[in-house]
Amino acid sequence: MNTYLSQVLQAVEKRDPSEPLFLQAVKEVIESLDPIIAEHPEIEEEAILERLCEPERQIIFRIAWQNDKGQTQVNRGFRIGFNSSLGPYKGGLRFHPTVNLDTIKFLGFEQIFKNSLTNLPIGGGKGGSDFNPKGKSECEVMRFCQAFMSELFRYVGFQTDVPAGDIGVGGREIGFLFGQYKKLTQRFEPGVITGKDVGLGGSLARKEATGFGVVYFAKAMLQTRKTDLSGKTCLVSGSGNVAIYCIKKLQDMGAKVVACSDSSGSIHDPEGIDLDVVRLLKESEKARISEYIYRRPRATFRAKQTVWDIPCEMASPCATQNELNEKDAKTLLKNGCILIAEGANMPSTPDAIKVFQQKKILFGPAKASNAGGVAVSALEMQQNASLEQWTFQMVDQRLQGIMNTIHGSCLHYSEKYHRKDDNIFGANVAGFLRVAQAVHAYGVI
Ligand code: NDP
Repeated sequence: MNTYLSQVLQAVEKRDPSEPLFLQAVKEVIESLDPIIAEHPEIEEEAILERLCEPERQIIFRIAWQNDKGQTQVNRGFRIGFNSSLGPYKGGLRFHPTVNLDTIKFLGFEQIFKNSLTNLPIGGGKGGSDFNPKGKSECEVMRFCQAFMSELFRYVGFQTDVPAGDIGVGGREIGFLFGQYKKLTQRFEPGVITGKDVGLGGSLARKEATGFGVVYFAKAMLQTRKTDLSGKTCLVSGSGNVAIYCIKKLQDMGAKVVACSDSSGSIHDPEGIDLDVVRLLKESEKARISEYIYRRPRATFRAKQTVWDIPCEMASPCATQNELNEKDAKTLLKNGCILIAEGANMPSTPDAIKVFQQKKILFGPAKASNAGGVAVSALEMQQNASLEQWTFQMVDQRLQGIMNTIHGSCLHYSEKYHRKDDNIFGANVAGFLRVAQAVHAYGVI
């Protein structure tokens, strides 16, 4: 690695030694930048990389709320504006007990380059809380969301910072957050948050966008090998928003999805996952995935087991970070897997990625393959600004176009720098260059 790059990495490691996820995300980007630094001396001269590795602002706040028993609860809230060179901070809110500053920083850092790859005018940000929505009543979730927004509303806005959903934050939570924002500011300003229900100014196809986008990216990768998804056996981890619509689009394209999961274990259904059952359990009943076998007795539930040991041709990790390790990667390859399309953020560990890269299988890195969600969020902002409501088909077509363009950028840069088929390299370089050029153009601010 070039001396400048290793100095920047060491400085970040020294400054944030207790943030392993953030360091993992930074290292992956920096490792791709060698040829770029040689061609663009201004990156070192103007400390552009150093500036991209330090958030523009980090807001941490206390959230006090009452549960159904009238007991006062205290949680911690975060919102990080990582970089606004390309547009307002844009990125989701995660509600999960594991959320801490490290989680939000890694997600915010990834978001800068993902958003850059979409070619849309959006900067990178992320937020969330260590609030655990599991087991909470709807009223408790509402009171928590209202308390969260009672602090966050000071910092968000159509032209400054536009949150959306992520783990634990779907349409229902976005409705509560948006309602509280409207009440506090006395303004109906739908462009302040995305992922809204269509009735509140949301975009058609936003709910589907991340999962569909993952599959469009997978399709584009397969086209480079003159094949498609038809008849391919697939594994999808998770059973939340991204997983459900990834499964839906895979099935629409003729693939057979035989497994999915949640944090309690995985379902193996060799005849193909019945998505109506998964949606009923997860979207309506908020039940555990283990309940699937009572509705589809042909399937098996594997407590505390991931999906990665089941034979497949394609695998899509759609649950959470570092959910697929080196051992899983070796098992997938041994069983005949030829394609990984990441739906979750940073789901494969660095060692797993090395295994995939050595075998040169098709690999769609998260910041490219799951960018469809944020891209359609930006289209939602566009519709809100113009007071328009586009059809599902229009949004879906724009999404397909964006995913193909992102894939094209990955191909372009991987070929230009003789790293053919290395989409991690291509995505990092394409995402970095657009944002670095903007940072350079502003001067030192
Ligand atoms: P959801 O909350 O809808 O679903 C998350 C799923 O992942 C659930 O099945 C959940 O199981 C499982 N999961 C979460 N944490 C863990 C864990 N620690 N171990 C095992 N399983 C876990 O979230 P999304 O589908 O929205 O998000 C999934 C991933 O996709 C995240 O990495 C997110 O950052 C990323 N992403 C989401 C986008 C979006 O538009 N929603 C956009 C781009 C990326 P359980 O219910 O048991 O916890």
